[in-house]
Amino acid sequence: MTEAGGLTKLQMYIGGEWVAPSGGDYIESVNPFTAQPWALVPRGNAQDADRAILAADEAFRNGPWGRMHASDRGAIIHRLGALIEKHADELAEIEVRDNGRLLAEMRHQIAYVAKWYYYYAGLADKIEGTVHPCDKPALSYSKHEPLGVCVGIVPWNAPLLLFSLKAAPALAAGNTIVMKPAETTSATALKLMELVEAAGFPPGVVNVVTGYGKEVGEPLATHPKTRHIGFTGSTATGAHLGMLAARDIKRVSLELGGKSPNIVFADADLDNAVRGVVGGIFGATGQTCIAGSRLLVQREVHDEFVEKLAAFTKAARVGDPCNPATQIGPMANQMQYQRVLDYIEVARNEGAKLALGGKHPEIEECATGYFIEPTIFTGVTNNMRIAREEVFGPVLSTIVFDDAEEAIAIANDSEFGLAAGVWTSDMRLALKMSDRLEAGSVWINTYRDISYTTPFGGYKKSGLGRENGVEGIREYLQTKAVWISTAKEIANPFVIG
Ligand code: ADP
Repeated sequence: MTEAGGLTKLQMYIGGEWVAPSGGDYIESVNPFTAQPWALVPRGNAQDADRAILAADEAFRNGPWGRMHASDRGAIIHRLGALIEKHADELAEIEVRDNGRLLAEMRHQIAYVAKWYYYYAGLADKIEGTVHPCDKPALSYSKHEPLGVCVGIVPWNAPLLLFSLKAAPALAAGNTIVMKPAETTSATALKLMELVEAAGFPPGVVNVVTGYGKEVGEPLATHPKTRHIGFTGSTATGAHLGMLAARDIKRVSLELGGKSPNIVFADADLDNAVRGVVGGIFGATGQTCIAGSRLLVQREVHDEFVEKLAAFTKAARVGDPCNPATQIGPMANQMQYQRVLDYIEVARNEGAKLALGGKHPEIEECATGYFIEPTIFTGVTNNMRIAREEVFGPVLSTIVFDDAEEAIAIANDSEFGLAAGVWTSDMRLALKMSDRLEAGSVWINTYRDISYTTPFGGYKKSGLGRENGVEGIREYLQTKAVWISTAKEIANPFVIG
């Protein structure tokens, strides 16, 4: 890391070395609160991608990582977790400079990220095989082996968390990894490599290359030595990477977009539901794949609920993400800021009624940053674009429903299926809803909870595969069957089976 014209100049981490991009180009990383650049991120290219994949492949085939007992690999992964916990505040400050998330939230989130490393470190030496009740004169057993080089491509909204959801299980399974953070938020992934070195990972086991998706992400994904592509981001890019993976017969896991319904029944604790709905859509300024962006409210409490919701939201403090009193920060980048403003326009033109927000806030502190007021639309119907397309911002679309069947029909009428929330005091109804909703996560009287212990992923166009929990490590393993004959000789060499 060096200083260049007041900007911090970052380096990539390949094969255990800090390297400059082979093309010599850099991308400015802009602080969304000030709209000013603060760092220079290496603009990697296909040559850098090739170098990183070859380093990871060499480390997988010939380095100490592959020969190490899983318990020892686990110990190194655990040490990384402890270092992350120790440096959580420092990492959080960097992350906030890159993407404008609340400092208080990022401190909490990054300290929590350590748990992914602890959990998977513990799982590393518990990957057991199976002895099969074989019908042949043979002992047949199967074991689960790593895949080889795994590429992780992650977005900008929760850079280190999403990095770790992939890195921790991939490493615990015995793979080596090449990670590519988003071009606008690469600083924490690179900072993490200092901790990777200190934890004692052999060179080439963990690599980070940075730059644009097309220029360096795609060469990583299509490299012949890449065995797995783990992607979090937009559905369009995920579909593209899925096609590239299919062409080369590579394993792929995709964690994509959502248009998640948050369903409030009349019998719910409405004040608590308000808190959950607000957290679901305005937490992280709406920039999460699990944002509860469609609010479905039962008709008899619609007006009362919207009133409570608008009052609670109006009181939220919008401003400097580093001020501990702030509850809603800026959008992470200029492109996203513009995109969300455009969607607000689309919703108005479609006839949705603006109940709150809808523009850049008139607050002095927010003048230069990429801020958008928390925005609530009512009178939305599920066929409007604002109810169908992922906005990825602080924009809530309110839809009214009469009964559970109608709520289910509206909720499931979406190409996405990442998550859903249900607010009711009737547990029988809650369980029925959880059975019928087409979503990878269903939250009842809560929203936006995730844990390293619990599988996470999408139905329908929201993704393929699962992250977290025991299921999460299976994405990074392949099964090998071994046969040991117990017969004295092969009965008939010309008849098989
Ligand atoms: P978002 O809308 O969240 O930025 P993207 O899908 O565009 O979602 O980006 C998520 C990640 O995917 C980023 O790291 C980005 O650089 C990368 N990416 C974008 N396009 C490609 C591509 N064609 N191949 C590989 N990676 C890509």
